[in-house]
Amino acid sequence: MAWRFALMIDPVASDDEVGDVASTLRPIDPTAPALQLGDLSAQRGDGVFESIGVVDGHPHEVGPHLERLAHSASLCDLPAPDLAQWRAAVERVCAEAGPGESVIKLILSRGVEGGPTPTAWVTLATAPDNAAARRDGVRVVTLDRGYPLDVPARAPWLLLGAKTLSYAVNMAAIREAKRRGADDAVFVTTDGFVLEAPTASVLLRIDGRFVTPAPSAGILHGTTQLSVFAHLEQRGLATAYENVPVADLERADAAWLMSSVRLAAPISAVDGRPLSVDHALTDELNGFLLGRRG
Ligand code: PLP
Repeated sequence: MAWRFALMIDPVASDDEVGDVASTLRPIDPTAPALQLGDLSAQRGDGVFESIGVVDGHPHEVGPHLERLAHSASLCDLPAPDLAQWRAAVERVCAEAGPGESVIKLILSRGVEGGPTPTAWVTLATAPDNAAARRDGVRVVTLDRGYPLDVPARAPWLLLGAKTLSYAVNMAAIREAKRRGADDAVFVTTDGFVLEAPTASVLLRIDGRFVTPAPSAGILHGTTQLSVFAHLEQRGLATAYENVPVADLERADAAWLMSSVRLAAPISAVDGRPLSVDHALTDELNGFLLGRRG
């Protein structure tokens, strides 16, 4: 991943009047040191983030990403981000994007321990090459997430459903999947329901319906999945949020991992068992996702 641009944001509270937003955005050298050692994002992974896909300078689903950033901040008791300021930061960064696929990261950290304000910054980098995943698909293994489906309501302090900077578990799951000869993982609950992948939502086609696990299961509400649902519904196809039993991974006649940068990656095998890939629909979905403007 090659850095293209970065800026620090001087965060303002969402009810502050910001006269000149541009003056609160400070371009920095993305390869130079920028954070204090005491920043809680580095010390404890204490903060929230978003990754936004950008194609030919057009950022995708900025509104839903900013709403999810605000939702994550609220779950973590962080000050509400000023969405106009973050939107201005996205626009500023996109002006540097150029042609092709890039990725913007929005990061809101609790800041320096004892410090007065959160730390916030935005980066722009070249997106990894996802052509093979979109074309050939990904082999997944199911991995136990270690809790039952009703945990999010019983234990909100686990921050399930917040996109926090604490992704060490997610990265460990991908390493475990690779150790088992797969490309990626799908988390499942101890009581046998599908959750999400470490960095993507899961979408299944069963009996002609497109089904994804409900966000109430303490998973992220994927912006890509939301976009794909809107597209499928416009084509008159049925979509649903449900509690998805693990057995549905066997019943599905097609399935995908969906995320902002990889987009729609068909699942080609689950726990070593091949799953058919609908290449035509996958190409259509990725064509639609790549072509989004505004
Ligand atoms: N679930 C997790 C855990 C993720 O990290 C992501 C994306 O990073 C998603 C789902 C998909 O979300 P989106 O489509 O908004 O990228």
